[in-house]
Amino acid sequence: MSNLEDLKADVTRLLSEAKDAQAVEQIRIRFLGRKGVIAEHFSRMGDLSPEERRATGAALNDLKICCEKKIKEAADRFASGRSRGDAIDVTLPGRPAHAGLTHPINETLRDICQTFRLAGFDVADGPEIETDWYNFEALNVPADHPARDMHDTFYVKMEEDGGRREKAGEYLLRTHTSPVQIHVMEKQKPPVRIIAPGRVYRRDDDPTHSPVFHQVEGLWVEEGVTLRDLKGLLEYFLKMLFGESVRARFRPSFFPFTEPSLEVDMSCVICGGEDHSAHCRTCKATGWLEVLGAGMVHPNVFRAAGHNPSKVTGLAFGMGVERMAMIRYGIDDIRLFFENDVRFLSQLSGGT
Ligand SMILES: [Zn+2]
Repeated sequence: MSNLEDLKADVTRLLSEAKDAQAVEQIRIRFLGRKGVIAEHFSRMGDLSPEERRATGAALNDLKICCEKKIKEAADRFASGRSRGDAIDVTLPGRPAHAGLTHPINETLRDICQTFRLAGFDVADGPEIETDWYNFEALNVPADHPARDMHDTFYVKMEEDGGRREKAGEYLLRTHTSPVQIHVMEKQKPPVRIIAPGRVYRRDDDPTHSPVFHQVEGLWVEEGVTLRDLKGLLEYFLKMLFGESVRARFRPSFFPFTEPSLEVDMSCVICGGEDHSAHCRTCKATGWLEVLGAGMVHPNVFRAAGHNPSKVTGLAFGMGVERMAMIRYGIDDIRLFFENDVRFLSQLSGGT
């Protein structure tokens, strides 16, 4: 009987060593053929007593079935390999698995949010389909305001909405994240300290613009908040994101929703600033990069959101995330971020 167990082990071992279908066939003939090892055992049963014959016969049958099964499995394995024109070479190394990477835009967005969270800001959210009121009117941009020309707006035609019966054509894809300011102030009494990251949409498509891009809006409303807080906050932010050596520059500007308004530049991180900027393409040899728009919340914006502008002050700022990522990674074509070429993306992403 132990002899039969050895036979089974032999078949298993030989099959595992078989390199092709031919080798498997040879094993089949050797063990299951008409003059094979198992047939020989059957033929020798005549010498045994009736009891021994019964036991050995059963054991031999089991062995035969078991071998047939194993040999068929091995033959099938090679048959499926052969149907593709080659046998499976189990000695080849496996295909490497590629780990996913965080998209550079998401990585930048995450770091921006984290920097403001550390300064006590909450993350707020708002709809991407907006009304004219939230996107323009409430932000002190009336219908005939020239600032609307800069926002080449996508309008959205909506079906009449059952119960609410909104008029068709009143909706648009938000052109900036600033409407979140209004949504938040409507719901929350000061103090308010939020940032609102998200997608925005404009009819633009060239090397530095994409029809969909990301902004981060910031709003801090509290009694006694001043322009000095704004400058301190943004300087902190730029140093956190781009390093301690970065300097900030504030220039007077104009936005309908802030008064006064500032444009914020940072010293060029590629060439190191004015003194070395002669050949820098990133800052166009000026030594400075325009990175943020900011200002003190306009009284009309407070009124639109239901706040008394003589009681509270606030500061607001906004930035383009793609712009930040382009500076961070030294990229001069925004479209590279959206083509999702893994070779490009994997060069930039460091995190997971
Ligand atoms: Zn430069």
